[in-house]
Amino acid sequence: MNRIGQGVDIHPFADPLDNGRPLILGGVRISETGGLAGHSDADAVLHAVTDALLGAVGAGDIGHYFPSTDERWRNADSSQFVREAKRILDEMNAEIENLDVTIIAQQPKLSPHRDAMIASIAHLLSLPQGHVNVKATTTDHLGFIGRGEGICAMAIVLVAMEGEAGLSPAERESAEPRLRTAEQRLRRLQQD
Ligand SMILES: [Zn+2]
Repeated sequence: MNRIGQGVDIHPFADPLDNGRPLILGGVRISETGGLAGHSDADAVLHAVTDALLGAVGAGDIGHYFPSTDERWRNADSSQFVREAKRILDEMNAEIENLDVTIIAQQPKLSPHRDAMIASIAHLLSLPQGHVNVKATTTDHLGFIGRGEGICAMAIVLVAMEGEAGLSPAERESAEPRLRTAEQRLRRLQQD
């Protein structure tokens, strides 16, 4: 059984007077300043990827596991969010078929960083790089992105799931205890 998941995330650019933040996308440090504002490291790409993974297996969303009200995730490296989502997929025997990411940004120019982002995401998900695609586009100066106020990232993932983790209601019921187990384990991790 194949299942599909989608993730969308938007962050505004941080106030440059606020000492500047590095711009981190897809786990890659794009620049030392000109970064995005957010509770964590504001990696909109990895947040969209996390949500797409969780969505594909019906495991909720990133805010459920890593709420932005939680001090533990202040300035957090977002790669840990992707890793946790991957662990949940692994527990549900969900294998990633492919992942496609679109970044919408008027600036900076992201094409020079495309290969690095693909390598970084593929590494986080233990995937061959051929299973990951990253592309960037602009809005031709339209709207808040066109005015350079923020960046949007979108991710879509296809996963293959075996047997009981499929779609029928009975199969769904049997998957839920595993979801609960994953959440309990995460809570224990957070308490340590
Ligand atoms: Zn985000």
